[in-house]
Amino acid sequence: MQEKLHMTRHPGINPPEFEANIVGITDSALFLSESYCYPRGGGQPGDTGKIIKADGEISDYTEVLPGEMIAHPIENPLDFVIGEKILCQIDSERRNAHTMMHTSQHIVSALAEDIWGAETVGNQLGAIQSRIDLLFDDKSKFDPVELVNAVNTVLSSSTAVNIHKWDRNMILEHEQMRHTKFLHKIPGDILRVVEIEGVDLCPCAGTHVSNTSRIPTLRYVGKKNKGKGRLRLAFEFDL
Ligand SMILES: [Zn+2]
Repeated sequence: MQEKLHMTRHPGINPPEFEANIVGITDSALFLSESYCYPRGGGQPGDTGKIIKADGEISDYTEVLPGEMIAHPIENPLDFVIGEKILCQIDSERRNAHTMMHTSQHIVSALAEDIWGAETVGNQLGAIQSRIDLLFDDKSKFDPVELVNAVNTVLSSSTAVNIHKWDRNMILEHEQMRHTKFLHKIPGDILRVVEIEGVDLCPCAGTHVSNTSRIPTLRYVGKKNKGKGRLRLAFEFDL
């Protein structure tokens, strides 16, 4: 499987352009020798951007998709040839927004678990607005003001966000570790762990800021009932 190079770059904002060779072409996508693009996953959208040929011709790629090899969907894949060297640019503004949203989602999920024991059972992040599905024992106890105030206290307190590479057993045995229920589905002995100091610690392959001071505070938009115990909460940046 191709290495997911976005995981080696932390913080996950302002991704630099990179060179790569075309190693695969289908009717709808290009595959690169290496890619720092984030492929859609875990509720975080994949990156978009531009691929630039040696002669300067620019093509847009749409949301990058996961797989054995990361797929860069593009309108004109047959204009490229195997072995061709290209330059790949990632839409930084969009990536930065997703990185900030994703890091915020860690904090929302961690604090909802701390306050109400509510488990995060789904999320869909956007550049402007995101939704997070929480499962409560008693959802009448949910208080959006309490949650948003707690989240914004962390966001505005310059809390460090660290990336670790830890052994699977160390992860499973760590007392503060969250979200290990699906760890058996992730291959490898050494896994990436994201730590928001004093707030959250969990295995994660998303993109993160290095300090919460990079993120605007959040505003609660509203909630929807999604069945017994389940609430879908919407948040956006309070810009
Ligand atoms: Zn994450």
